[in-house]
Formats: sequence, structure tokens, C-alpha cells
Amino acid sequence: MSDCIFCKIIEGEIPSEKVYEDEEIFAFEDIDPRAPVHVLVVPREHIPTLNDVEPAQDGLLGRMVLVATRIAGEKDVADSGYRILMNCNKDGGQEVFHLHLHMIGGRSLGPMVQRT
Ligand code: AMP
Ligand code: ZN
Repeated sequence: MSDCIFCKIIEGEIPSEKVYEDEEIFAFEDIDPRAPVHVLVVPREHIPTLNDVEPAQDGLLGRMVLVATRIAGEKDVADSGYRILMNCNKDGGQEVFHLHLHMIGGRSLGPMVQRT
């Protein structure tokens, strides 16, 4: 996708602080970290939202989570704890429409979602 910021990051057209890459997955530091550790894990393939993941791609989601847990270990938050989250569409707060998961840690993150 020519106008996708994460595709451009994966292609190296936009700089990022790379944390991990393999033939399928790319991970980099979030530019606006909400906690001491905040890494984004994305597939190289441009998949806009979670809704667009096909059943045959279930393994990709599992491997994205495993990359995130491995990075959590490398960043020394595996024992203290961290949160993995994926935002989908408007109510989920998705801003970048290239599938990604957030791995956030390094401090107590508080409640999962604010009560209304
Ligand atoms: P989401 O709201 O789930 O779509 O999250 C998008 C995330 O991408 C936000 O946490 C942004 O801070 C992050 N982000 C946007 N642009 C960049 C960029 N150029 N490099 C790294 N992270 C970015
Ligand atoms: Zn993309």
C-alpha cells in the first residue's frame, strides 16, 4: 500500500527504531510511547484491520504474539508484566490501518479499559 505509514516503515522509506524482523514480521519502537516499553509488532503484509485476517492466517497472529513475548523478555518486562493489545476500527481507537499489536510495559498499566 503506497500511502501506508507502516508499509513505508517496513520498506525503510520512513525511519524507525527496529527491534525485530523476520521474513513475515517486523517490530519497532512506537514513536509516542505510552510506557517505558512500547513496541509495535506488524506483519510485512498489508492487512488493514483484525477484521481482514483470514482463517488461514491464524498462525500469523500467533507468531506476532510470540514475537511480542520474546521482545518482552529481551526488554526485561516478562516477569514484571506487560500488556498486548490490538485496536480495531473507530471504537477500538485504531489510527493506523495496517494490522499491528502493541506490547506495552515497564510500569503498572492500571485498568484494562476505563469504566464509563
Ligand atoms: P493504533 O491506535 O493502534 O492504530 O496505534 C498506532 C500507533 O502507531 C500509535 O501508538 C502511534 O504512536 C504509532 N505510530 C504512528 N506513526 C508512527 C511512526 N512513524 N513510527 C512509530 N510509531 C508510529
Ligand atoms: Zn501497510
